[in-house]
Amino acid sequence: MIDLSGKVALVTGGSRGIGLAISEALAGCGAAVAINYKENDEAAGQAAGKLEGMGARCALARGDVSDAEDVQRVVDEALEAFGKIDILVNNAGFNRDALILRMSLDDWDEVIDTNLKSAFLCAKAVLRTMMRQHWGRIINIGSVSGLAGNAGQANYAAAKAGLIGFTKAVAREMGSRSITANLVAPGLVITELTKDIPRRLVEEALQRIVLGRLGKPEDVGAAVAFLASDEASYITGQVLVVDGGLGM
Ligand code: NDP
Repeated sequence: MIDLSGKVALVTGGSRGIGLAISEALAGCGAAVAINYKENDEAAGQAAGKLEGMGARCALARGDVSDAEDVQRVVDEALEAFGKIDILVNNAGFNRDALILRMSLDDWDEVIDTNLKSAFLCAKAVLRTMMRQHWGRIINIGSVSGLAGNAGQANYAAAKAGLIGFTKAVAREMGSRSITANLVAPGLVITELTKDIPRRLVEEALQRIVLGRLGKPEDVGAAVAFLASDEASYITGQVLVVDGGLGM
């Protein structure tokens, strides 16, 4: 069984959807969890209640991960609450889909900033503390869109593909400090982010999913908990695809 007792995790976008399942998975393995979120205080309060109900230590840190000052404050708050950060999960993300010819520069910039720049800002803010303790886990949440591309998601696919290169660069820079960096690429998981995908497209995806069902947030949470563990200490710079065989 994965044992993360004594470890502290910061999960960006950890209050809802996949991020909440990641927070629950890490807490279930014994980690204290600092949950970052952008603005939905109610969802964040409920997430904290769930973790505390599991007997986990939990702190909330509101802030926009695409903003450097907010990120520093979020990391400072997590450090204040728990004294260290061992595990960073860069999960916060959103999409603003449009075909390239109709995609505005703002749509491009906001999606790149929230999904990609954020990972750089958060990693930069936590790496010193991980280097001091000679132990760390950086786990970035990508997407199958970043592997195969997706019509209507040029911004999102570019951001998620960029995260793969970023993950490998972090792995190379930090390997000598026993800090690993990996990326988990989920397939289709129904959350707020994906709830408006037309039923026809969901059915089409289902036809291609080898395991015959959509992904659950917990599927991603379990993969993240494994990569955060000591059992995964010899795995770095990798992409772990959690898509039921969709993109195989
Ligand atoms: P949700 O929309 O359900 O949840 C998003 C979470 O991120 C919320 O906690 C939200 O906080 C937070 N968030 C959004 N923007 C910011 C920001 N700028 N700063 C801080 N927090 C922010 O998304 P999902 O759970 O579906 O997605 C989670 C991750 O998984 C994303 O990176 C997504 O790209 C990826 N993914 C999702 C897939 C899916 O099928 N759902 C498939 C592949 C990848 P608040 O509630 O306060 O707004």
